[in-house]
Amino acid sequence: MTAIVGGGMGGLSAAFYALENPKIGPLILLEASDRLGGWIKSEKSKSNAIFEKGPRTMRPREVAGRNTLDMIDRLDLTNHIIPILPSHASARNRFVYADKKLHPLPNSFRSLFTVNPPFNRPLFTAMINDLIAKKGETKDESMYSFVQRRFGGDIADYLISPLLCGICAGDAEKISVNFLMKHLAEVEQKHRSIVIGLLKDTLRDIFDAKRKAEALKLKNRTFEGSAGRAAREDWAIWGLQGGLQQIPEALEKELTSKDVEIRRRTPVRNMTFKPECVELEVDDQVQKYERVIASLSATRLAKILERQHPQLARELEAIPTVTVAVINFEFPGKVLPMEAFGFLVPPKEKIPILGVIFDSCVFPQESSTVLTVMMGGAWFNDYFGGNSSQDYMVAVALDQLRSILGIKVDPSDTHFEILENCIPQYVVGHEERLKRIRNYITAHKMPLTLCGSSYQGVGLNDVILSAKQAVHDIS
Ligand SMILES: Cc1cc2nc3c(=O)[nH]c(=O)nc-3n(C[C@H](O)[C@H](O)[C@H](O)COP(=O)(O)OP(=O)(O)OC[C@H]3O[C@@H](n4cnc5c(N)ncnc54)[C@H](O)[C@@H]3O)c2cc1C
Repeated sequence: MTAIVGGGMGGLSAAFYALENPKIGPLILLEASDRLGGWIKSEKSKSNAIFEKGPRTMRPREVAGRNTLDMIDRLDLTNHIIPILPSHASARNRFVYADKKLHPLPNSFRSLFTVNPPFNRPLFTAMINDLIAKKGETKDESMYSFVQRRFGGDIADYLISPLLCGICAGDAEKISVNFLMKHLAEVEQKHRSIVIGLLKDTLRDIFDAKRKAEALKLKNRTFEGSAGRAAREDWAIWGLQGGLQQIPEALEKELTSKDVEIRRRTPVRNMTFKPECVELEVDDQVQKYERVIASLSATRLAKILERQHPQLARELEAIPTVTVAVINFEFPGKVLPMEAFGFLVPPKEKIPILGVIFDSCVFPQESSTVLTVMMGGAWFNDYFGGNSSQDYMVAVALDQLRSILGIKVDPSDTHFEILENCIPQYVVGHEERLKRIRNYITAHKMPLTLCGSSYQGVGLNDVILSAKQAVHDIS
């Protein structure tokens, strides 16, 4: 029997795809808490609006995006999809808050040639920076240092740093360039300049007949189901009517109908690898399994295998996580000064929020405004180490909403939650660390498969696809 440890999207997806691999026998899923879904948590406000505590939207593109939509179709959730088209205000408009003002991020080709604060030059001049910048010398570096070297400090401060607050609540000065810009870092190494490299690659694609045919084939390829519809209609993002929580709920239904045993309130406390089995310490008992698929975060996994494998545990716990406070507000009436996805705050501004999502612009409400304020992340201790009480943090969030968005009315409902260690940080050296972790597991012949957001991408699409690949690779 194979044990899957953790019932978030990583563990549930691993179970879903493990059923397709005949090499994997019967499955049991062990979840520490009393619910499935991990960080996915959709609640209802007093007026029945959806308050998402964790993820809310997903991208439909690339292999990972199409794979998730395929899973949604297989789980019979197609009719719940809410597609957001590129023409929608929430797809077009994103703001950054700097110098006490909200600034729209450039969203058209023309806007690259005009000066748009907080940038004090047209953005296309960043290409000139790149043309004259020297090639970097280190194997890995931070996103901030890479972008500052190649495109200028203003792009690092006002574009990349807030973007990382939005994606992983992380500090651009610590996150590896490979997290989002692996391809660009490779282009730099090959061609010195990114602009020259990308231009050369484009010209090669145009003049190389074989590559041209392949690109055309990919462009004209039709995908089935919702992934096909998303490609034809060019969805920017999508969500689910009723909240994303329906995905783990549908997965649970599907898995139990296929005889996967699911046990809640079952924390695994220790893991020992024996020549003939893996022993898991659960509820003061020792249970024996042929293989373990571990989907819990790397830092938690480190704790349960450090007794037998301290060296592996050290590597796993070196993948840090950050804590985020999520505050959902509902206000009566329409209180926002603009329609947009929301705004992000560059850390340089030293304001105690990461950003605000305008949920009801993305998924409209009839007569209210729903907003989510994200706080903390890499700066949680700086701002809230001394006081992280609900009263204090909600007051800070409301204060920011009033001063930045000019909201005068009181919220009709507020939900507050601190998500401890919820987002892994792919800091400089992450890829090399992953290789050492995988080499260790192979060298020690451990029947251990890793999945979840600590390793190959922090978004839901990455978590689902990497779980699929990990279980399909089991032979
Ligand atoms: C605030 C926030 C907003 C986000 N927004 C988006 C978004 O809009 N779009 C997007 O694509 N992604 C988003 N994400 C990321 C997405 O939520 C994660 O990628 C995903 O939920 C991670 O799933 P997981 O299974 O890897 O981890 P988890 O969800 O952490 O699941 C791990 C599970 O393991 C269990 N566990 C832990 N220890 C043990 C143990 N010892 N024994 C048994 N079980 C154990 C836990 O209880 C948990 O249920 C967001 C994340 C957060 C926190």
